[in-house]
Amino acid sequence: MTVETTHSSSTYPLDTYWSPVVHRLTPYVPGEQPKLSHPVKLNTNENPYGPSPKVLDAIHAELADTLRLYPDPNAERLKQAIADYYTITPAQVFTGNGSDEILAFAFQALLNHSTPLLFPDISYSFYPVYCGLYAIDFTTVPLAEDFTLHIADYLRPNGGIIFANPNAPTGRLLPLADIVWLLERNRDSVVVVDEAYIDFGGDTAIPLVDRFPNLLVVQTLSKSRSLAGLRVGLAVGHEHLITALERVKNSFNSYPLDRLAIAGAVAAFEDRQHFEHTRQKVMTSRTELTVALSQLGFEVLPSTANFVFARHPKHDAAALAAALREQQVIVRHFHQPRIAQFLRITVGRPDQNAALLAALTHMLTEG
Ligand SMILES: *Cc1c(COP(=O)(O)O)cnc(C)c1O
Repeated sequence: MTVETTHSSSTYPLDTYWSPVVHRLTPYVPGEQPKLSHPVKLNTNENPYGPSPKVLDAIHAELADTLRLYPDPNAERLKQAIADYYTITPAQVFTGNGSDEILAFAFQALLNHSTPLLFPDISYSFYPVYCGLYAIDFTTVPLAEDFTLHIADYLRPNGGIIFANPNAPTGRLLPLADIVWLLERNRDSVVVVDEAYIDFGGDTAIPLVDRFPNLLVVQTLSKSRSLAGLRVGLAVGHEHLITALERVKNSFNSYPLDRLAIAGAVAAFEDRQHFEHTRQKVMTSRTELTVALSQLGFEVLPSTANFVFARHPKHDAAALAAALREQQVIVRHFHQPRIAQFLRITVGRPDQNAALLAALTHMLTEG
């Protein structure tokens, strides 16, 4: 049988199949996962150390006949493990397929109101993408010249506030006292604190959720717990906020976490020793990398994350990133106002940081 085509694809307007919302979207562009043979991969803030061996054992144990069964839609074991870790109740915990998914649910469930949502002009670039997806009106609030966040700038009518702490891609930390100050004055809308990097030296806002029913704290296992490939995130807040997230989740996908993810994530929270050991190593290397980059003439922002944000007064950041790539060293550069001269460099293992510094030393002394 032959299929007769009446329109050639060159003349038929294929994009009429797209819904108007798809035409409108500007999707997020994730950092590259390079196909190079031995890249020094310092571009997406993954942990340079592997996950706990206990996580791998737990996942192996889950590779069984039971994979034919759906996982627990509520991931109760994981919520309990997180509640034990933070001394809260499982009803205050939400879990999802990476914190990106949880953020998406939060934008839809809690941050989509008629007054504009507020977030910093320099922040996680997924926030405006979610606003596009859900048609949320937003206003960006400029960070100060030194990239610190001034909380008083957020005291205005808003449909919600979201910021990353430590901020991405700057690495700068907002003290917990400032978050309290804001929460005391902003009672009518939800404040979401995205703590993707909090374990690298900051204090979590989770203990504040009992005092402030409009605070939602979002975390991920992708960075400090070395599980970016497993896709697990969590949120902690008042039960009422968690219920809103559950309502969206259960209108979208009942099983965001599979059996392997639940088993691995539980083990990750149980193995505190591996977590402490690896995050200490990252923090020590961050200090060493900051000193070494400064000696090469870089201005390095103080970082409380597993990356540093640095600029060289005499060398163009995009050119440096391209030259590093030729040496198989991958860092992140954002073509964006105010930060186009910065490089975001993930803190790697000592050998990876040494490779980065060797390549930079070569370039900066050649040119
Ligand atoms: C990495 C990152 C996330 C996303 O983490 P996943 O859990 O891997 O989706 C969220 N927010 C910020 C600021 C991040 O840097």
